[in-house]
Amino acid sequence: MIEGTFEVVGARAALTYFGALGPAGLSHGYLFTGPAGVGKKRFARALAQSLLCETPKSTLLGYCNACAGCTLFRAGTHPDFVATEGTVKIGKDGGSAQHDEELTARDLVRELSLRGYRSAYRVVLLGDVDFATHEAANALLKFFEEPPGGVVVLLTTSSPGTLLATIRSRFVEIGFPPLGTAEVESVLRAGGVEAARARLAAEASFGSITRARAVLEGADEGIRSASFGWFAEAMRGHTPDHGFLRLDDRSLNAADKRALVGEMLEIVRIAARDWAALGAGADVPLLAPDQRALLAALPQRTPQAAATLLAAIAETTKLAETNVSAGLVVDYLRMQLGA
Ligand SMILES: [Zn+2]
Repeated sequence: MIEGTFEVVGARAALTYFGALGPAGLSHGYLFTGPAGVGKKRFARALAQSLLCETPKSTLLGYCNACAGCTLFRAGTHPDFVATEGTVKIGKDGGSAQHDEELTARDLVRELSLRGYRSAYRVVLLGDVDFATHEAANALLKFFEEPPGGVVVLLTTSSPGTLLATIRSRFVEIGFPPLGTAEVESVLRAGGVEAARARLAAEASFGSITRARAVLEGADEGIRSASFGWFAEAMRGHTPDHGFLRLDDRSLNAADKRALVGEMLEIVRIAARDWAALGAGADVPLLAPDQRALLAALPQRTPQAAATLLAAIAETTKLAETNVSAGLVVDYLRMQLGA
């Protein structure tokens, strides 16, 4: 189905969708949603290279890695590929040096108005996009009013609920599920991580390359163990400190804080699932076997109460994908657990 190379992991829905798509069916905008570290940007880059590859192919996915288009792409200098990460702000006149690495709405309007220079396509990748203002979001809406031929915008986000409904509805939305442990392990191994460490990190990753890398760097231990501790305290009806989420840290933007809370929610979900399994005496492997003692010591509840609790966590995860503030999400979750 794919001609040439196409190196991605996971991305099952995206592979199915684009694998069945001809050039005529290509939309002007795609929104890739899913947790951090499951390959959204990696897929978007591979899709971009496929579109800009100059070797004739009968499929949309796949690139040769050898033509001039691929060479420029790999060097990061292809004139028809623009990639940026993070917040889109309203445009300001030249002066504000402190934000000069951030895309402004004016930059976005300009990038979206150009046609392909050497390729039939022009690909604009907005990774982990966060529109700081309605004006910034409107820059994108203008594009959809009259999109130049061949221009494709790829957005990735782990919190699609924060996008304006008017923006979201313009995009073809494709979900990226968590990776399998073996997939995470293979990516780590391909990156040169030694076998035993790769396996351990993959097991602690809950399907996210980002989390696996954090485990390898030891950076994950902070939020992981703090989240398990927070869960245990909240389950006892206490009000545990959530300073580890850095909600008052002004050096973090709203998207960073949402990512931290999303991370904590994911760990709480695992903790609750393991706690419920222990309470039911279910003979299933724990997702976090290293936390067995902590979770087994927590008071058990009736099966129905345990089910209600798991549902409340799922509901909180949905809430966290909206514009509700991270602090309120954490308070809401604590009240659900302590009930
Ligand atoms: Zn090529």
